Amino acid sequence: MRKYVMMGVQGSGKGTQSELLCQDLDLVHISVGDLFRWHVKNHTKLGAQVRRTMHAGELIGDDTVEAAVQDRLDQHDWNFGFVIDGFPRNGRQAEFFMESYDIDGVIHLELPDDEVRRRVLSRRLCPGCGMDYNLIADRPRVEGCCDICGTELITRADDTPEALAARLRDYHEKTRPVLELFRRKEVVHDVDARPAPEEVQVKIREALSLPPYTPKG
Ligand SMILES: [Zn+2]
Repeated sequence: MRKYVMMGVQGSGKGTQSELLCQDLDLVHISVGDLFRWHVKNHTKLGAQVRRTMHAGELIGDDTVEAAVQDRLDQHDWNFGFVIDGFPRNGRQAEFFMESYDIDGVIHLELPDDEVRRRVLSRRLCPGCGMDYNLIADRPRVEGCCDICGTELITRADDTPEALAARLRDYHEKTRPVLELFRRKEVVHDVDARPAPEEVQVKIREALSLPPYTPKG
């Protein structure tokens, strides 16, 4: 059984790296973001709570996140293990999580703030069909237009330099105690998140002493 935590700032590729890590190792990817989207989509009690919180423009509380993760892990469909991203959120949760689940390793994807800014501020969204674009890695064929439906692309309302700076501050402040706790238990592996996704995955597997990554198909 392999149990890993994926940590990293927005834009560091947490989701992508978690998926790649799960692929051939039969691990279950537990993404807190996806978990909430699932609850909202399926109109669960938790989904209603999340919807209300977001509607009020507030952040989802640590306790709600913890409840959702606990509920997800209680399904015990992770026979070979899991990779979790978006959790734990604070030192107390990290302590509890370490003790309850005997975590094998924590991957900390390192990305300098200026690179986060470059990546996040280059994101564009199609308001017509919901397709995501990125002016660095995933440009539309015609500048400013959606490849699929031709709608003019927009920037997400919360992808402004000011909003991003606030999110970065918040991230560093909240993550520091979690990382410190994991570091004391000597389970953290720092990985440079700047190279291409496949290269980053190779480094992650080396760090965790896992079989090498072989791209699919
Ligand atoms: Zn579109």
